[in-house]
Amino acid sequence: MESIQGEEKRFHGIAASPGIAHARVFLLAQKELTIPKYKISSDQKKGEIKRFEEALLETRKQIQGIRDEIKESLGEDEARIFDAHLLVLEDRALIDESIHEMEKTGENIETALWDVGNKYIAAFDQIDDEYLRERASDLRDVMRRLLSNLTGQKLHQLETLPDGVILVARDIAPSDSASIDKSNLKGIVTDAGSKTSHAVIVARSMNLPAVVGMGDFSERINHNDVVLIDGYEGSVILNPSEDTLFKYGKLKSERRDIEKRMIEHAKEASATLDGHPVKLMGNIEVPHEAQKAVELGADGIGLFRTEYLFMNVNSLPTEEQQFKAYKQVAEVMGDTVIIRTLDLGGDKVLSAADMPLIKESNPFLGYRAVRFCLEHEPLFRAQLRAILRASVHGDIRIMYPMISGVTELRRCNDLLDRCKEELQEEGVAFNEDIITGAMIEIPSAAIAADTLVKDCSFFSVGTNDLIQYLIAVDRLNDRVAHLYEPTHPAVIRMLDTIIRAAKNGKVDVSICGEVAGDPVMVPLLIGLGFNSLSMSSTLLPNVKYVVQNMELAEARDLAQMAISEKDGSKILENLLEFYTSRMAKLY
Ligand code: PEP
Ligand code: MG
Repeated sequence: MESIQGEEKRFHGIAASPGIAHARVFLLAQKELTIPKYKISSDQKKGEIKRFEEALLETRKQIQGIRDEIKESLGEDEARIFDAHLLVLEDRALIDESIHEMEKTGENIETALWDVGNKYIAAFDQIDDEYLRERASDLRDVMRRLLSNLTGQKLHQLETLPDGVILVARDIAPSDSASIDKSNLKGIVTDAGSKTSHAVIVARSMNLPAVVGMGDFSERINHNDVVLIDGYEGSVILNPSEDTLFKYGKLKSERRDIEKRMIEHAKEASATLDGHPVKLMGNIEVPHEAQKAVELGADGIGLFRTEYLFMNVNSLPTEEQQFKAYKQVAEVMGDTVIIRTLDLGGDKVLSAADMPLIKESNPFLGYRAVRFCLEHEPLFRAQLRAILRASVHGDIRIMYPMISGVTELRRCNDLLDRCKEELQEEGVAFNEDIITGAMIEIPSAAIAADTLVKDCSFFSVGTNDLIQYLIAVDRLNDRVAHLYEPTHPAVIRMLDTIIRAAKNGKVDVSICGEVAGDPVMVPLLIGLGFNSLSMSSTLLPNVKYVVQNMELAEARDLAQMAISEKDGSKILENLLEFYTSRMAKLY
């Protein structure tokens, strides 16, 4: 790296994914597109109008193509949303006014369109009317596409990152983080977000250091600045001095050594010192991650977040494409694979171009997961059929996300039965006894978990959502991230309630939220009675090491302490002390 200029400066955020990286910043601009601005001569005006007309035609073609795809997969009602976009393209006010502006100012058409379009957007935005605000959002979408066609700039910069950079952004959508070419990226820093935002979960599964919740960091640094990020402590150092680099260089090689030693134990059985087995499974977002889970000693896949199959693709995956993906994972794994049905919504929205999810003011409380799927039967059925067909290739199980109560669970199972009947009539093979389970991630399902036991065979606790709903802490909001407290007494009690309901109802139970991969939390979870945990594969070695260096009786003592303690921070203190004592050998 070239010599470093400027004074060293430290910034603090939330440690979201472990690791240390030192590189130049790639600042993801707030404005996705750069709008060129230049003067044109009167001779060039005709050419500008021609360029504009061509871009309008190209944009129309693109939107019409998306509309057709949506119609085929979701039906005419959903496809109609794109009619509003097509109407924007025919809006003479926007087109004529842009041309008029270009003629008046003598500036290029992009500048004229940008100025006129934004004037309308600002006017719509100011009016307190849902319908007009929707029009502003339509206009914004169409302008973005038009300007990309006019300027030839790609809309997704993240797929073409320069080599060896640290990505700094206000925020990153899960679909963006999934599309990043990992080979070009050394780390991620975002102003927004928390430990459980999906973009971070993806970073963790890619083994990339990440620091989030950095406030206005992206506004305080520049493209190409040099930073060091510490994903263990949650700090970012701008212009690190030679001393700092030396210190972190040492730390990095120590951590690497420890990680190597932990990986050496990855294939050993996962059990406590006194022989109590704890099943450790992997969470995956895309099929190819299954191989890494195998290498890191996972006892199966405890959560396959299938929504990532629906992101960054030109059209929604067909039943056949899904079948191949599920079969591939089952074959690579050769062990249990729990496939979670589509959990779209929340922060996992597809761009409007892919799927017309309605914009909502509280998306995490809204039209999400099974709520969405049960109203989009063709889409849901295609997925269930694909899973059923793949079920003859391994121990595949189905898990429904965001179950709030028994009615929803039954509706999902009824649809599954209908898919089974269809396949039977078609003479297609599937596992008739496929096991189904419910995610417990809404407090109503947790409190009334006993009402669900007759309609499913396992529970998997989604603590990421369960904690956000229980403590009322938006998992994406960095301002309240400090309140997101997995050791809050209410969380401990809720986990205890779920365990009791599962044991009484004789259903299996595991955890697949991020706490399951937090080695500090693991002894407590085992002590509470969880014998199965599922996490990003990269976290498996550390968790396994902790399991192998503790006794069940110690875990039970910790659980007892947590159940009787009133103060969540005291619980955490005790857990940290226990964890440090177990790790001491390695350091
Ligand atoms: C959870 O909510 O804990 C979970 C595992 O699901 P996701 O993070 O995908 O919402
Ligand atoms: Mg969830």
